[in-house]
Amino acid sequence: MLLDMDLGVLLPSLIPSSQSVYVLVFYFVYLAVAGEILPGKVIRGVLLSDGSQLRYRCNGLLALTLLVAILGICAKLGIVSPLVVADRGLELLSATFIFCVLVTLALYVTGRSSSDKSSSLKPHVSENLVHDWWFGIQLNPQFMSIDLKFFFVRAGMMGWLLINLSILAKSVQDGSLSQSMILYQIFCALYILDYFVHEEYMTSTWDIIAERLGFMLVFGDLLWIPFTFSIQGWWLLHNKVELTVPAIVANCLVFVIGYMVFRGANKQKHIFKKNPKTPIWGKPPVVVGGKLLASGYWGIARHCNYLGDLMLALSFSLPCGISSPVPYFYPIYLLILLIWRERRDEVRCAEKYKEIWAEYLRLVPWRILPYVY
Ligand code: NDP
Repeated sequence: MLLDMDLGVLLPSLIPSSQSVYVLVFYFVYLAVAGEILPGKVIRGVLLSDGSQLRYRCNGLLALTLLVAILGICAKLGIVSPLVVADRGLELLSATFIFCVLVTLALYVTGRSSSDKSSSLKPHVSENLVHDWWFGIQLNPQFMSIDLKFFFVRAGMMGWLLINLSILAKSVQDGSLSQSMILYQIFCALYILDYFVHEEYMTSTWDIIAERLGFMLVFGDLLWIPFTFSIQGWWLLHNKVELTVPAIVANCLVFVIGYMVFRGANKQKHIFKKNPKTPIWGKPPVVVGGKLLASGYWGIARHCNYLGDLMLALSFSLPCGISSPVPYFYPIYLLILLIWRERRDEVRCAEKYKEIWAEYLRLVPWRILPYVY
């Protein structure tokens, strides 16, 4: 009976209304236009195998700030309800899912028929339709000169903040705003803003340089990031948690240390790639074979940046206390994802760097967490 009732409520709310489609269309159109016209640092991507380099305009922070300002003004004027996302979360989720399926089918069809030989657009076809649709066919497909991979990851990260802000508005409206909600909101907002401050670092990450654009990446960017990373916020709307002062302090420490490790490691690698002579922690860098950094965070563990990210993920869930595993979905998922990713990256690096990688393994034996893994 209860199940019937729940499904009776759940299923209709999964059917996208025209309003949720409008929200998505407005969002994508805004991002496409803002990405093209707003000023921003133009960054050259990594050198591709054919010697070409893509260019990325890193104006995400400005685009996000402007969008939040526009939405804030519209909410004030009563044109848009700040609760539109919080009230239509499931509908938006299913509309986004349908979009992901459609766009990746289009990517499959256009990718297969491409005769382009460049590294970015050359089709990689395995003859297994599901494999090609899932992993993608082209490395950097474009639509109206927009780099879709960069576009989707940006949409996902901004979407996460917008969902959170709507959840925040909902908790203010229904009088359930708590310390836990405030902590969760602050940590996530800082993480997302920091992402856009350092958007150029994204251009040298694994997703951008190595993964082809298929359902896995599009779904991950557009649906998984915004809708599952915000589970803690949705959960806090319906659950009250009393936090002690020591718990709040410990939670803040996990966030700050996680941030330092995450940002510090990614920054060191990025700077090293730009100029391998730049000092690391005030000392000349230890370099293996002229190509791999083996000091700073990269001398502590081979994927110290993953450790920082995991601590941050944990800090987003700790405000929810420990009464339920549901808010821990994100750190648990991230642990599995990053271990899988780290394994795949190691295989790639071993093939790419050969004996240099073997030497690096000897110098830095730990994968993510020293003395544990
Ligand atoms: P990394 O930033 O770890 O990049 C791996 C690449 O860096 C390797 O393929 C290699 O590329 C290069 N590299 C590895 N070791 C060294 C070294 N010692 N010196 C110099 N270069 C090295 O991977 P990701 O792109 O996977 O992650 C970037 C960030 O994004 C991470 O902090 C991660 O936590 C985060 N992330 C977050 C996710 C989330 O859902 N929250 C999901 C995925 C990632 P090359 O061939 O260019 O040398």
